[in-house]
Amino acid sequence: MPSSKNPDHLNDASETANAVLAIDLGALQANYRSLSALAEGAECAAVVKANAYGTGESEAVRALERAGCRTFFVATFKEAETVRSVAPDATVYVLNGVYRGAGPAFAAASVRPVLSSLREIEDWVEFCTQVGEACPAAIQLDTGMHRLGLTREEVDMLAGSPDLLDAFSPVLVMSHLACADEPDHPMNADQLKTFEDLRALLPAKPACFANSGGIHLGPDYHFDMVRAGFSMYGGRAVAGRQPLAPVVQLHTRIAQIHEAPAGRTVGYGAAHTLGRPTRVATLTLGYADGVFRYLGAHDTKAGLTGYIDGHPAPALGRVSMDLITLDVTNIPEAIARRGAWVEIIGPNVSIDDLADQAGTIGYEILTSLGNRAERVYLGGEADTG
Ligand SMILES: *Cc1c(COP(=O)(O)O)cnc(C)c1O
Repeated sequence: MPSSKNPDHLNDASETANAVLAIDLGALQANYRSLSALAEGAECAAVVKANAYGTGESEAVRALERAGCRTFFVATFKEAETVRSVAPDATVYVLNGVYRGAGPAFAAASVRPVLSSLREIEDWVEFCTQVGEACPAAIQLDTGMHRLGLTREEVDMLAGSPDLLDAFSPVLVMSHLACADEPDHPMNADQLKTFEDLRALLPAKPACFANSGGIHLGPDYHFDMVRAGFSMYGGRAVAGRQPLAPVVQLHTRIAQIHEAPAGRTVGYGAAHTLGRPTRVATLTLGYADGVFRYLGAHDTKAGLTGYIDGHPAPALGRVSMDLITLDVTNIPEAIARRGAWVEIIGPNVSIDDLADQAGTIGYEILTSLGNRAERVYLGGEADTG
């Protein structure tokens, strides 16, 4: 049975809203607590890069800190500054590392780079030597992804360079899984073994290995700290496994209804010809809001489905920048009417459903949501959950 009731938060949206993106910070906190419990014995850090996967970095950090999170990972220094401004006492790591010359900014914001090559470590050591302080940083090891991280040769060289290891403060050793969303993939165990081997060559430091998928792989993968991302934002982090609580909902409204005869076309390119007399509903949302153009329909391909009071309405024609057209012929006129709310992401359509239809992953759906829809934040107080 499709879920039919409009969520209450739509009553709080302004009269001028074309679309409403609701972010349930209470669900985010509950998911954080679930992942912390799964990783019991390890610290659960939160990955809040890319505007906290599109949910809003400041709001997410504040809610997560209230749920007990003390360590945050971001991709860029600018994102780290945002975490720092919201959570003055948090520990913040920048996954993309630090370029030469950026040391002073990192130190001033008390932000730790993740160092992923011997060259980068040398640059950080040069900065530490200049300021006469062994500044903290994480070391990332490449365990098979060939993206970021020290190679085995570099680990050997670093292990043989006590002067380098003494000149900064390596507070965390980490790596990243390539296939954690597939629990049976042999790469997982391979990378785990490589991580343990490489880590043993260096002075003992707290270790951090698992992303969302890795947390579900079990205690062998947890070490001292885990890095929770997609799963915390309600995504399906492991193939075939039920995701945690949904965090994001996206609704828009019907601006206009057209009656069109069979044989006419809808939208740009006249790509979709109507096979019957059709009621066409035009929604005030488009690819500029993160609803990918690929989700449109044409004569030989179905597109997304919107839900109006629980009634499915399939896409007609292309997705425009600001508008989408749906077939509402089968929906009572009193329900599919001007001003009615239409679910794009919600109880009937998860971010992963929409991603599957768009030929992408839920991560890309979330990070594409943008800032044009009116944002409504729900929950997130200190005492929820
Ligand atoms: C993005 C990222 C994460 C979080 O991954 P999820 O799959 O979203 O949990 C963890 N570690 C690193 C290095 C990342 O880049």
